[in-house]
Amino acid sequence: KRITIAIDGFSSTGKSTVAKRLANELEYVYVDTGAMYRAVTLYMMRNIFVSEGNLDKEAIIRHLPFVSLRFEYDEELGYGHMFLNNENVEKEIRYMEVSEQVSKVSAIPQVRKMLVDQQQEMGKSKGVVMDGRDIGTVVFPDAELKIFMTASTETRAQRRYDELKGRGDEVKFEEVLKNVKDRDFMDSTREDSPLRMADDAVEFDNSDLGLDEQFEKILKIAKD
Ligand code: C5P
Repeated sequence: KRITIAIDGFSSTGKSTVAKRLANELEYVYVDTGAMYRAVTLYMMRNIFVSEGNLDKEAIIRHLPFVSLRFEYDEELGYGHMFLNNENVEKEIRYMEVSEQVSKVSAIPQVRKMLVDQQQEMGKSKGVVMDGRDIGTVVFPDAELKIFMTASTETRAQRRYDELKGRGDEVKFEEVLKNVKDRDFMDSTREDSPLRMADDAVEFDNSDLGLDEQFEKILKIAKD
């Protein structure tokens, strides 16, 4: 039996690590919805004139029809890379500049509508692991398995910082911590589909050490 697995949670809770691992084990498709919001944001940052660091909402809505997104599976890495209008932007969408704007762009209902529609389409053929903020509540309220990931703010900021540093990005820890906190706030207070745990979700605390053990548990639930 192939099922739909929804993985939600705040930024840098390790959602994608668990989601990718599950997808590989079960031979399911993995969809990183955060990458989609990031790619839309990148497009807007490149194409809309920015005044005082603010992206104009009306202009974003006007530009939406020109954004085409797809994932292309990378054999070597074992997951899909984000393509924006046929360009591989997997690396660029993770930059701090994008992280700083993404929650604002994601708060626009028209942006959410477009991406949620695409995500529902991708999940039509069962056997998908999707990670994001609103998968278990909005995109697939009927998902057979819902996981809600949590980890302390500091743990998450440290993880993100290590990741960015490891890639050679010039960032300060305080800057990353602030971004994690800002996004938590914006993502959870959004009007349209605020981040919250679905009633039937299983909570999974990722700051704990017993990660493998917890993963095995989830895998067992998924297989049953
Ligand atoms: O998962 P990631 O941290 O890459 O997501 C980046 C941003 O995209 C989040 O902070 C949030 O603003 C937005 N997002 C969203 N809904 C999703 C996935 C991501 O609003 N399902």
